[in-house]
Amino acid sequence: MDTLARATAADGAIRCMAAVTTNTVAEAAKRHGVSHTVTAALGRTLTGALLLGAGLKELDRLTVQIVCDGPLGGITAEANARGEVRGYVRNPEADAPLNAQDKFDVRGIVGEGMLYVTHESGYDIGLYREPYRGSVPLVSGEIGEDFAYYLAKSEQIPSAVMLGVLMRARETGEALVEAAGGLIVQVMPGADSKMVAAVESSVERTPHITKLIREGARPVDMLRAALGDVPFEMLEECPVGFACSCSYKRAQSLISSIDPTELESMLREDKGAAMTCHFCNETYRIDESSLAGILETVNAVKR
Ligand code: ZN
Repeated sequence: MDTLARATAADGAIRCMAAVTTNTVAEAAKRHGVSHTVTAALGRTLTGALLLGAGLKELDRLTVQIVCDGPLGGITAEANARGEVRGYVRNPEADAPLNAQDKFDVRGIVGEGMLYVTHESGYDIGLYREPYRGSVPLVSGEIGEDFAYYLAKSEQIPSAVMLGVLMRARETGEALVEAAGGLIVQVMPGADSKMVAAVESSVERTPHITKLIREGARPVDMLRAALGDVPFEMLEECPVGFACSCSYKRAQSLISSIDPTELESMLREDKGAAMTCHFCNETYRIDESSLAGILETVNAVKR
């Protein structure tokens, strides 16, 4: 099971979040049938959304959107207070050869663009408040550095962000996610400069997080590795995972909002309807008799 931990150090002047998301990223990759490079890009974004969403209140949700001009076309990830995350990319098959460092060329499929982070609250129960939205241009395209830039520029919190997805190629060509996770260390206003220097030098020496995770590290071990000798206090550790709020019932209610003449032609020509959820790629099939029933109800309401 994947987990996320939140901790503080230096009397709250340092805030940190760490997550192991191997299963979350594997589930997303499987559902969307994405290329290796897209798995890395989507996995980093899903993990970043979970980390940014750590400590969200009930009914809050956080959406990360990367709008970009590379072959990937764009990434959307949404996290909530229950540690659930879902997301998708525009072009799942986008791919690129390994880069000069022999790594997946995430920057190569992302290209240039913008990173948007939206905080919303109460959406699911209709208590909709004005969302808060921050944005920055992509400075790297490797995603981790882009999250760090967003936090520094838009939220004015200097942050070290590490996001990683480690994969092994399988003979079938499908990616096998061996380890995925992330870590954010933030310096809050008023932090003691000696403490900041100690944390910075420790964070710099942190081994690659996917290496730690592959060796079995849990979020607490990642925090220990990043903070070195600096003592920290764990605030919370909770399960996280890929989950979507779509359902057959929601698909039905979406279908019933379609114009009746269009529903009639769907019934006549397709003998039913199918809806695919962008976020999780689940397809809901409404068969002929259910669609006829929906049409009847829609027409009855209209009359
Ligand atoms: Zn869904």
